[in-house]
Amino acid sequence: MKIIHTISEMQIFAQNSHRSGLTIAAVPTMGFLHSGHISLIERANSEADLTIVSVFVNSTQFGPNEDLDRYPRDFKRDCEICEQHNVAVLFAPENTAMYSSDHSTWVTEEDLSRPLCGNSRPGHFRGVTTVVAKLFNAILPDVAVFGQKDAQQALVIRRMVRDLNFPVRIIIAPLIREDDGLAMSSRNRFLSADERSRALVISQTLLSLTPENLDTEVIKSKISSAGGTVDYVEILDAETLRPVHLETVEILVAVAAFFGKTRLIDNVILKP
Ligand code: AMP
Repeated sequence: MKIIHTISEMQIFAQNSHRSGLTIAAVPTMGFLHSGHISLIERANSEADLTIVSVFVNSTQFGPNEDLDRYPRDFKRDCEICEQHNVAVLFAPENTAMYSSDHSTWVTEEDLSRPLCGNSRPGHFRGVTTVVAKLFNAILPDVAVFGQKDAQQALVIRRMVRDLNFPVRIIIAPLIREDDGLAMSSRNRFLSADERSRALVISQTLLSLTPENLDTEVIKSKISSAGGTVDYVEILDAETLRPVHLETVEILVAVAAFFGKTRLIDNVILKP
């Protein structure tokens, strides 16, 4: 496995690969890889000749009071995991290479990025779309794999790719859970044993829902009773992120809640 730190080396590798007739699948991550990420890597392996995983903790998608400085990192372990899963290149650019001190160009999506995390994390999706556009320009992928864990992010990126004509096919891969239901996340490592067991209320509640028993207030009160602080619980059309309507094909039930200082997100899709 190759480890590449500079954007120009990444682009040259990608261009040479394309010239040799090889296709590239990208898996953008912020590192501290877990089985959720591995499932994306395996999907990428099945979709293209070469899988390129990026590990980059993207400062511009964190708000001023968020956890950028303490975001978990373990580059050595990430390398081992990528190596074990047939990753061709681990692309780990430096922050200074990605963002010049006078960086002043942004990609903003102005519809799907407004509700849910867009409300509670102003500027978050501008950081996400900008970094994914930059990563696409470095990795030059034919296909990119994102997780349903970040349902809104996946929709926003799919819209960006359509609106800006990126020649990249977007795949949204299933949300991977721990055996007890907790949605896998790099941030789970911040949970104390007690917070972790109380946080199970999120997945237990979501996984018990049927289209007939949807009530945001009931979900909120279950999370609060378990000691969580609800950021949002929303029931929306899974494609448009607008209120559910008669033609809604899939319903997204999305939750964000704090257990201690750790903000967790989770979601399920239901058919009406
Ligand atoms: P992150 O490193 O948290 O920014 O996530 C990188 C990619 O992995 C994103 O596309 C996430 O949606 C995806 N991902 C994170 N956790 C999971 C999970 N539990 N199941 C599936 N995909 C995930």
